[in-house]
Amino acid sequence: MIVPIKQIITKAQKGKYAVGAFNTSNLEISMAIIRAAVKQGAPVIIQTSESAIKYSSLPTIFDIMTNIANTIGKSVPIAIHLDHGHDYKIVKSCIDIGYSSVHMDASEKDYATNVRLSKKTVEVAHKKRIWVQAELGSILGKEGMVKLATGEINMKDMMTDPYQAADFVKKTGIDTLAISVGTIHGHFKGIERVDHPRLKKIRSLVSLPLVLHGGSGLSTGTFKKAIKNGVSVINIDTNLRLAFRKALLDSMKKKSDIIDPRKILAPSTDAMQREVEKMIRIFGSSNKA
Ligand SMILES: [Zn+2]
Repeated sequence: MIVPIKQIITKAQKGKYAVGAFNTSNLEISMAIIRAAVKQGAPVIIQTSESAIKYSSLPTIFDIMTNIANTIGKSVPIAIHLDHGHDYKIVKSCIDIGYSSVHMDASEKDYATNVRLSKKTVEVAHKKRIWVQAELGSILGKEGMVKLATGEINMKDMMTDPYQAADFVKKTGIDTLAISVGTIHGHFKGIERVDHPRLKKIRSLVSLPLVLHGGSGLSTGTFKKAIKNGVSVINIDTNLRLAFRKALLDSMKKKSDIIDPRKILAPSTDAMQREVEKMIRIFGSSNKA
């Protein structure tokens, strides 16, 4: 059932577990996420990126998420969130259509602009009791990895500065903070890490819920330690993509003559559901609905 995100995250922060925020862009992924939440009796955040919105249109994906949450997912609390809104116009559209939370990501802009855009979003969103996530520091992706490898950039310079985080939260009035503590968007098994002393320092200086991006590929132990050190929301996207792709390739290899898209996609939906369930268990949010 759709609920305000505040209800889900506040309870997680108090209970010292994390809520999974899983990216969707279509019917199958939305079903997988919500079926997993129901099976695990877990609260869950279902989120779209700007490109996921562009893929089918905002009303379409919003209605798919809302409808599945209120039917298949009626026994568990579910909140809809915009992940990495770089374009203020899209952020505003999500506020208007009824998202429970939006990520105004101006982290690539200079600090003053990031503060200004985040604050402006807070002013608009809070009138509708919608939460705002903002970001400080850079969470690298594939391109960033190339720059890291060539020494063009240094990971430490990309990470969130704890004292700046405290100033940022105070100046903007945001509700959740996306932090950069060493994780990377995408799947880079073996090299992901979390700078735990930095995470603990941020936690000691700000009291709002912290969001860990780029979680796919981290070890169970790293997740658990990050939660213990103060993370309340963990974003997962790539893990589901990998599960989707692997199950699709396997099933097409086994039964290459099937032509019904529902039968072709069913194993992928099931595989993504298993992946979401696994994450929910690691995050400690099973039976917290
Ligand atoms: Zn992210």
